[in-house]
Amino acid sequence: MIILVVNAGSSSLKYQLIDMKDESVIAKGNCDRIGIDGHLSHKTADGRKVEEDCNFPTHAEAFERLVQALTTGDAAVISSMDEVSAVGHRVVQGAELFTKTTLVTDEVIDEIENLKELAPVHNHGHALALWACKKTMPNIPQVVVFDTAFHQTIPQKAFMYGFPYEDYEQYHVRKYGFHGTSHRFVTAKLAEVMGKDLKDLKVVSCHLGNGSSITAVKGGESIDTTMGFTPLDGVLMGTRCGAVDPSAVTYVAGKHGFHVADMDNYMNKKSGMLGISGLSSDFRDITAASEKGDARATLAKDMLVYDIKKDIGAFAAIMNGLDAVIFTGGIGENAPNCREEVCENLEYLGIKIDKEVNNFKGELKKISTPDSKVEVWVIPTNEELLIARDTLAMVEGLKK
Ligand code: ADP
Repeated sequence: MIILVVNAGSSSLKYQLIDMKDESVIAKGNCDRIGIDGHLSHKTADGRKVEEDCNFPTHAEAFERLVQALTTGDAAVISSMDEVSAVGHRVVQGAELFTKTTLVTDEVIDEIENLKELAPVHNHGHALALWACKKTMPNIPQVVVFDTAFHQTIPQKAFMYGFPYEDYEQYHVRKYGFHGTSHRFVTAKLAEVMGKDLKDLKVVSCHLGNGSSITAVKGGESIDTTMGFTPLDGVLMGTRCGAVDPSAVTYVAGKHGFHVADMDNYMNKKSGMLGISGLSSDFRDITAASEKGDARATLAKDMLVYDIKKDIGAFAAIMNGLDAVIFTGGIGENAPNCREEVCENLEYLGIKIDKEVNNFKGELKKISTPDSKVEVWVIPTNEELLIARDTLAMVEGLKK
């Protein structure tokens, strides 16, 4: 069975075609610059490629072009879209409406569109892609997998903000959490490699990339996470500030004479490791500059490490202990220095890692010592695969 996984943004549409027989990626690519001009990058597993400037006035033309790339020409991998059993879409914000993977209907697309106020950058693009996909592939079932769904188990005392209750009721202002698909994928994988039932585990999952979030997973359920109403909350990120005193926001906005959109841009694009270091948002650049003695790059790295450490401690407290810590995402999978510094001086929690074993990139591996009470694992994430698995399960369920 073949599943198409789509991750659409406001001006881009990334896709992977996955053969569920062995969960291998047959082809993947990106339709970029939608609404501007258009560009297609397409690559097959056996190394055939398409790089082409296109005309993508809307997501619909991008969809048609990706269907063409998959089915015709030198880099085709299937003879027709009839070979595709279903399409699985990543959707960022499902709010309280969507607590699990959902089969797409016109009403579902409308509801995703209506949630755009809560995720202005993402949900509108998802809805456009869903309509476009429906138009291009009307007979193929579509499924949506939400970044927020995994966090719908967080209890109210943890997801509420201290604003007047009416604003939660009227404007739905609360913590939603993000990266749910990644946290779900790596915690399930953890249980598999530990040979344990996820139901019996207390886990802190650290997804560290350009955007980073830490999640407390108890018995397989998210019970708290560091991202909030939007993906801006929590630890210091590439260009996002993470958690700050809300009064600092109003104060800075006043000093700069910022309007709401300017302040949003300042917090999302100009802050984080980029803002602190003045150099780069990329952890590789931060590490390299720090190693050369750059004080502000070192500060950015130290702030990130400090935030993660603090969250591990906080989540161990709310779970009444800890069985495992997971590192994933671009930084979590590839930056041994970050992992080592986070785990330093956490022996009191039962965390002890082997620095030699930890010195690697991008593999699934246990880095804790045999006598460490808490197991520490590096687990490469694969959100697309989880979306494909969910999609497959949904369409197989339809047949029953
Ligand atoms: P996104 O959140 O956009 O999905 P990624 O998960 O790809 O981002 O993570 C990007 C981050 O991972 C960047 O800060 C990058 O520097 C970092 N990263 C990627 N490879 C390495 C590496 N080899 N060493 C250190 N950091 C890395």
